[in-house]
Amino acid sequence: MGQCGYNLIHPIIINNAKETQHKLMSNIPIIAGNWKMHGLSDALSTALLIDEPARLSLAKTVIFPPATLLDRLSQTLKAIDSPIEVGGQNCRSELSGAYTGGISAEMLKDAGATRVLVGHSERRHGLKEACELVAKKTLGALRAGLSPMICIGETLEEREAGQTQAVLTRHLSDSLPDALAGKDFQVAYEPVWAIGTGHIPTDSQIVEAMSLIRANLKARFKTGPMPHILYGGSVKPDNAAQLLSLEGVDGLLVGGASLLAKDFTKIIEAAGRDA
Ligand code: PEP
Repeated sequence: MGQCGYNLIHPIIINNAKETQHKLMSNIPIIAGNWKMHGLSDALSTALLIDEPARLSLAKTVIFPPATLLDRLSQTLKAIDSPIEVGGQNCRSELSGAYTGGISAEMLKDAGATRVLVGHSERRHGLKEACELVAKKTLGALRAGLSPMICIGETLEEREAGQTQAVLTRHLSDSLPDALAGKDFQVAYEPVWAIGTGHIPTDSQIVEAMSLIRANLKARFKTGPMPHILYGGSVKPDNAAQLLSLEGVDGLLVGGASLLAKDFTKIIEAAGRDA
């Protein structure tokens, strides 16, 4: 990440008001990059390199950098009027308190975040975070005025045991608080076995999961715009267009392939160009 230099004076003159208005529309795709625990100061140049493709894209581009880069990344993007949004990868549910190392949603917002990931499988499984905690963090995000992106997904064992539907249904009912009604939020379907493995579900497995999630959200959250439902797990430049073409896929959550500007650019471009 971040091996190239950049020019702070952006060559493209754009109409930001029009662009912002357009990209707030709920039916445009979201392409989000989760940098996980990757990136030192030079990673800021990766974001600058994807600014131009993000401006040209039909999609809303989001980066979830490590917390240490959030403020600087946000300031750097603001300085060039970039349409790229930044978000936190996690938050605590509390507003403040004696939680050494903890970061509240308000702190993320103060550092420039507009969004936050909650319930990523690396936290659900690696750190044993239960659905109930994910729901509390989601409430924290709403309290701070952040748009939560709630990750759900089954393990390989659960899929092989025929439990995918039950797991997704449980994740949705237990991780999504009622307070989300009418609010801006997204659900990312990330099969645990597809994350960082190079294995992706078949098209029909993805369409089936998307349809279950959509039906569940429609039945439960009757007010407000339909949330975006993203697919995540081994998204690469060569499969992004196909994944985005699948019924019900409103965007992509990208891990490893968001770390290199050239790969992430191709994924952003796969969403199509702004008219
Ligand atoms: C992720 O961690 O959210 C993810 C989708 O990772 P990867 O793209 O590397 O599989």
